Amino acid sequence: MKYLILFLLGIQVSFAQSVIKYSTSNAHSHNDYEQSIPFQLAYQQGFGSVEADLYYRNDSLFVSHEWKDIQSDRTFSKLYLQPIVALCEKNGGSIYKDKSKPLQFLIDLKTPADPSLTALVRELAPYEKFLAPKGNVKIVISGNTPKPENFSKYPAYIFFDGRPEVNYTKEQLERVGLISQAFAKYSKWNGKGIPVEKDKKALVEVISKIHALGKPARLWASPDEVNAWKVMMNMGIDYINTDKVTELGAYLSKRKNAEYKNNESYFPYQPTYLNNDKTGKVKNIILLIGDGMGLAQIYSGLTANNGRLNLSGFLNIGFSKTASSDNYITDSAAGATAFATGKKTRNRAIGVDSNLVAVPSITTLVRPKGMKTALISAGDITDATPAAFYAHRPERSMQTEIASDFSLNPVDIMIGSGYQHFVKAGNIEIIKKGGVQVSNQWSDLAGMKAPFILLDSSQTVSKLKGRGDFLVDSFKKTLKSFESSPKGFFIMAEGAQIDYGGHANIMPYVVTEMLDFDRLVGEALKFADSNGETLVIVTADHETGGLTLLDGNIKAGYVDGNFSTTDHTGIMVPVFAYGPHSLSFRGIYENTEIYEKIMKVIKKQIP
Ligand code: MG
Ligand code: ZN
Repeated sequence: MKYLILFLLGIQVSFAQSVIKYSTSNAHSHNDYEQSIPFQLAYQQGFGSVEADLYYRNDSLFVSHEWKDIQSDRTFSKLYLQPIVALCEKNGGSIYKDKSKPLQFLIDLKTPADPSLTALVRELAPYEKFLAPKGNVKIVISGNTPKPENFSKYPAYIFFDGRPEVNYTKEQLERVGLISQAFAKYSKWNGKGIPVEKDKKALVEVISKIHALGKPARLWASPDEVNAWKVMMNMGIDYINTDKVTELGAYLSKRKNAEYKNNESYFPYQPTYLNNDKTGKVKNIILLIGDGMGLAQIYSGLTANNGRLNLSGFLNIGFSKTASSDNYITDSAAGATAFATGKKTRNRAIGVDSNLVAVPSITTLVRPKGMKTALISAGDITDATPAAFYAHRPERSMQTEIASDFSLNPVDIMIGSGYQHFVKAGNIEIIKKGGVQVSNQWSDLAGMKAPFILLDSSQTVSKLKGRGDFLVDSFKKTLKSFESSPKGFFIMAEGAQIDYGGHANIMPYVVTEMLDFDRLVGEALKFADSNGETLVIVTADHETGGLTLLDGNIKAGYVDGNFSTTDHTGIMVPVFAYGPHSLSFRGIYENTEIYEKIMKVIKKQIP
C-alpha cells in the first residue's frame, strides 16, 4: 500500500515533467450497458473499468438506466456476469489474456443496498476466485452503497466507491476500491482549452487528496472529448470517464506512439547572418530536404528541443505548394523531381516530366560547369528523393534501373544505402573504372577521396535504432572534400526518415529524425557563415502523417502528436533560405520555383 501511495503521488507531482504511461487500462466505460455491445466493446479495447446501473426487481438483478426501461432479457447475469466468468475460465482465471491486467467493474446500485446487494452477493459468490482480492476482477459498488460502518458486513470481494469528502476509518478505507465525485462539483469547464486556474486547482487538489489515500480517482460526467481527456490526464486522473468507448479506446491505445520526451537537447548554431540580406556572389548551394517535414514536425522538434532549433535562425522563409501534376497530394518522387528539374510530374515518376520524358536535373546541369555535386541521404540513395537528381524513370520502384542511371549522370559524392541496387545493376566495376571509389563500408568514410560512392545499409537505420551522426558526418566529409573547389558545389542532403516516422504514426520516430535533420541544418549554417558565398535552402517535399500537436511542454521537451493519416498530405511546406539571394525564397510559390530560384542564382554565377 505504501508503494502504491508513493507511486500515485509520483504521477501527480511529476505530470508536467515526465510522460505518464496512460493506456486503455485507464479508461472507464460509463453507462457501459448503453453501448452497442455491452461489456464486449469496452473489453475488446482493453478498458480497465466498466460501469453498469443495477436494479433489483422480482428477486432478480437487471441492468437498465431507468426502472421503467427494465427489459426481462437484460439481466446482470446475462450481460455481465456470464461473459466475465467465461473469459476468466478461458484465460486461466484472469479476465484479460495479460494476467497482470485487472478489470474494475463498477456497479451502480439504483435500488436500495438492502436487498439489492444481498442479491448481488448471491450471484457473485460462486465466482469468488475470479474476484479481487483473489482474482483480478474488482467489484466496486456505487450508487446506493451501505453506510461505511456496514462495509465490513459484506464479503471481501465487495469493494465500495468512496467519496473524497467522507472521512473513512482505516478499516473502512480498506474496502474502498475507488474514490469518485462529480466533475461539476469542482468546475463548469466545457472541455475546450484548459479549466480556469481556480477550477484547475480544485481538480488537482481533489485528485491529490484521493491519491494521498492510496486510491485511484474518477470524476464522473467530466467533459468527454480528446482535449478534455488529455487535460484530465495532465491532472493525474486514474480513470477517464467516457461514453465514447470506441473513440477513447482508439485514443488511449495510440498513447505509446503519440508522445515523446527529449532527454538530450542541444544548443543550435547562432548564425552571423553574413550576406543574408545581400544579392552578391553565390558559389555553393546546399539544398537540405526533410522528407515529410511539415510545420507540425518542425514544431514538435522545436518543442522537444526546449524551444530551440537551428531552423529558428532563418529569417527568409517562404512556403512551397507541393501538388504533383496528377494529384493534389504529391509523393516524394514527384516532389523531388520538382526540385531537381523544375518540372511538375506524376506521382511515382523520377526525373521525367508529366509526359514521362526525361528532363535534366540540377546536378547534371552544373557538373559540366565545374561545380562539384553530392547527394546524401539517411535512406536508400535509389529511393525517390535522391533518385530524382540523377535518374530518369517513370516508376520509383525501378531501383535497379535507377542505380544504372547513375553511370550516365554521375555525381562526385554519393552517401546513403542501396549498394545492392548497384550490384544488381552491374555497374560497380564500370563506375570504378571511371575513377570513382566505391565502398559499402561506413568505416571507409574518412579515407575516401572524391569522386566516391559510399553506400552502407547498416548505417541508415533510424535514429532510434542507432544511426548516430551519419548525416552530419557525411555532410562534413562532403564539405571537406569540396571546400577548395574553384567553381563551388551543389549538395543535396536528405533527412529521409522524418517521412518514415510520419507513415508509421510514431512520434518518437518523427521527432528524433526531425532533430537529427536540424543538426544537419546547423552544420550547413555554420559552413555558410564561414565563407559568405553559400546559399542554404531547407525545405520538404510534402508533409507526412497529417500531424497535429494536441499537447506539449517546451520546458520539459515533451510533445504529444496526433496523426490524421498514414500517408502524405497536401498542405504547403515551409522553405527556409540563408545566405546571399536567400531573400528570393520568401513568399508562396510552387515547389518547381525552388529549382528556378536555384538555377537563376547559379546562372548568374556561371553562365
Ligand atoms: Mg525521401
Ligand atoms: Zn513518404
